[in-house]
Amino acid sequence: MTRWQRVLSAALVLMIASAATYREFFRDTPDRHYTLYVFGTLVEVVVPDSERRETERILPEISEEFTVMHHDWHAWLPGEMTRLNSAFAAGESMTVSPLLADAIRQGQALEQLSGGLFNPAIGQLIGLWGFHSDDLPIGPAPSAAVIAAMVAAQPSMTDIHVDGREVSSGNPAVSLDFGGFAKGTALDWAAATLQQAGVENAVLNAGGDVNVIGRNGDRPWRVAIRDPKGWGAIASAELRPGEVLYTSGNYFRYHEDAGIRYSHIIDPRDGMPVDAVVSSSVIADNGALADAAATALSVAGPDHWRATAERMGLKLVLIVDSKGAIHMTPEMQARIRLEDDAENTPVIIENLDMPVGPAAGLAAIR
Ligand code: AMP
Ligand code: MG
Repeated sequence: MTRWQRVLSAALVLMIASAATYREFFRDTPDRHYTLYVFGTLVEVVVPDSERRETERILPEISEEFTVMHHDWHAWLPGEMTRLNSAFAAGESMTVSPLLADAIRQGQALEQLSGGLFNPAIGQLIGLWGFHSDDLPIGPAPSAAVIAAMVAAQPSMTDIHVDGREVSSGNPAVSLDFGGFAKGTALDWAAATLQQAGVENAVLNAGGDVNVIGRNGDRPWRVAIRDPKGWGAIASAELRPGEVLYTSGNYFRYHEDAGIRYSHIIDPRDGMPVDAVVSSSVIADNGALADAAATALSVAGPDHWRATAERMGLKLVLIVDSKGAIHMTPEMQARIRLEDDAENTPVIIENLDMPVGPAAGLAAIR
């Protein structure tokens, strides 16, 4: 072999080796990861490499709409929602965007479905506890008299009249705060938009609140159930095509006064922060429903969550109470794998007394 032949064959070997490495690289990293932001939360979108083109074509539109939603639905910075809340307080009506009109109708259905435990009309109470701020509130809790007056005013989504895009409230105490279901609504819209664009398999993960489309190759997508006390996971679950997993937790957003932490989830019945549940997780077929339900189940508490789950048509529920015990349905137990460090956690399995059939909750909000 001449010197040149040796160089050529070495180059050929190198080319074949690098082609193999190239294929190996793509086999090992079959997914594409993208990040967006909505309501101040990072949203990770994962799709198989084969669906990259469709995804990249539609993601800018999704990102733009997320920015619009963040601005329009902000509960305290000036925007469409704060203008609407001012109109409600003044007894005036206002024309809103089609998206907001739809979300108000959805909020009305979700309040009804939850028996009033999920109530996005209690914005004044949420603001009173200091949660209309990017910083965690500190200092004395609000006075019992002011809390009682806000509760007595009984703000409810049923006070709101929606006529097409024309919206008014018969109760000036109604103040919208969509913090409890906005993320679910946004991810539902984004998942539907990705699908319309031809994306058949994807995960949308907003800090542990997840919508999935299709499958992860020949397997279901496996997602983590967030640990309420840390950034890790207490369990993981395989989600079927179209399923969602949402968790409401009290550990990262709270009001602190003299060592006492008050949750950002408020019980509309007494205006007080929830303290018996540290997190609630729900698997369902709709993000807005699961998001609202996770909030409502936190309000219901460890003794009454089953009635709320039944009302909302949900079988896949997991609650961590303030003593650290996990309560869940047998259906949820069958779908999850507890992490090793959760092995010593007390687990209470509780059956729901529900009729078999399609989730009533989903039918109500569609
Ligand atoms: P999540 O993390 O989904 O449970 O949402 C919590 C957020 O929902 C809070 O920060 C408030 O903005 C809002 N919220 C608090 N309590 C309620 C409630 N009872 N019903 C509806 N929204 C609530
Ligand atoms: Mg929620």
